[in-house]
Amino acid sequence: MKIDNYSLPNLKTAQKRTKDETMIERSLFDIPEEYKHLGLNKTYYLRTYGCQANERDSETIRGMAEMMGYLPVQSPEGADLIIMNTCAIRQNAEDRVFGELGQLKRLKYENPDLIFVVCGCMTQEEEVVARILKTYDHIDVVFGTHNLHRFPDLLVQAHFNKERVIEVYSKEGEIYENLPVIRNMKSKAWVNIMYGCDKFCTYCIVPYTRGKERSRLKEDILNEVRILAEEGYQEVTLLGQNVNAYGKDVYSDYDFSCLLKEVAKTGLPRIRFMTSHPWDFTDEMIDTMAENPNIMPFIHLPMQSGNTEILKIMGRRYTPQEYLSVYNKLKERIKGIAFSTDIIVGFPNETEQQFQDTLDMMDLCQFDNAYTFIYSPRSGTPASKMEDNIPLDVKRERLQRLNKKVGFYALKNNQKWIGQIVPVLVDGPSKKNPDVYSGYTDTNKLVNFTADQVQSGQIVQVEITAAKTWTLNGKQLVV
Ligand code: SAM
Ligand code: SF4
Repeated sequence: MKIDNYSLPNLKTAQKRTKDETMIERSLFDIPEEYKHLGLNKTYYLRTYGCQANERDSETIRGMAEMMGYLPVQSPEGADLIIMNTCAIRQNAEDRVFGELGQLKRLKYENPDLIFVVCGCMTQEEEVVARILKTYDHIDVVFGTHNLHRFPDLLVQAHFNKERVIEVYSKEGEIYENLPVIRNMKSKAWVNIMYGCDKFCTYCIVPYTRGKERSRLKEDILNEVRILAEEGYQEVTLLGQNVNAYGKDVYSDYDFSCLLKEVAKTGLPRIRFMTSHPWDFTDEMIDTMAENPNIMPFIHLPMQSGNTEILKIMGRRYTPQEYLSVYNKLKERIKGIAFSTDIIVGFPNETEQQFQDTLDMMDLCQFDNAYTFIYSPRSGTPASKMEDNIPLDVKRERLQRLNKKVGFYALKNNQKWIGQIVPVLVDGPSKKNPDVYSGYTDTNKLVNFTADQVQSGQIVQVEITAAKTWTLNGKQLVV
């Protein structure tokens, strides 16, 4: 919908799915010469909320901002351009963003030339854009997830016309292979293998904010991974809302396990992927993980609930038994594999007994880590039409009981590593103590360790000396 010069989102349109082929844009991405100096002697501050998809989008935003001459700064104070890349997954994520937007308004009074940009999943919601239009008049540019490639044009428009620019398309989405990127890390990289989601879990806003499931072509992914390997990257994480669905929209005989095999062949030391939906997890994927030592023995396998009825009304398409079957196969085939999961508590109508089923599943699976959330109704989703009938204090109390269990098993799992020697990919000196380094094991555990002169990006052997709930301590093994 277009009002004046505003292109506004619509969740109903965003929900539509057709069989139309996905457009892939490959033309050279460039910015007109005269605008390449727009940011000269100016700075930008970029804040990213939410998941890895947003982190990766922010790397593209950085690429585009720096093509225009802007330089990055770590604080919004004094920046000439502020960009907020937002997350819509839960109401508290949105409240945080609105809180920040309100707080940062004063910067616009101090510097009227400041350009303030809001983008990401929140802007795909009509209610959010309406609220920005009504209450946040210091926001100059609003663009959606399907308008990422339009960022430089929108910035130019806001800058020269001194007008507010709102451009949010609600559509299935395209693939842009031509966008610049400045990666946040030198040894670990995110690689999108697909965009969007067609699962439509009843509570989730992602299929509306990110469009349809659309896979990048395998050649494009493999090229990107090979280049990263040549540049010395040590770890690549293949990204998608449900990577198991990779390829289904473009190939009849090439699926995620085929891609994973080929990515493993590039010889990159560490390959990870996220997220996998338990529903279409194939045996070939498990075999591929088991047969390739550079695919890391760690999996994030969201369970959401341990109760059959709740899983059904969540639209998750598996039962707790089917979840367990995938879990057990992974555990049997991949030595030492670590698991993390996502759990939602307080879904509409969840009874104490149904919540107890989730706790029982936690006892069975003994996850290394779990991200736990209180159910948050998202406008436009099927679940938001159900009565949100679990009182907040009950939800909070369930979350507390759940988190206690999560912490218990996290510590129990970490304690098993004491005395063992594990490979750690070094991130760098620890934030709290520069004499201590930090990095991740192949099983995705954060280790703080003492060492002599290690460089970030190195994989070193570390002896684990102590275990805490969320981290391990260790010392580098000198041979
Ligand atoms: N695609 C991934 C999957 O299905 O596992 C995860 C996507 S989402 C960014 C991450 C997690 O947020 C979900 O696994 C779910 O636990 C949680 N989540 C999504 N919608 C939610 C809602 N309305 N309320 C509470 N938690 C939610
Ligand atoms: Fe949301 Fe479900 Fe898609 Fe994950 S699989 S992004 S939870 S709809």
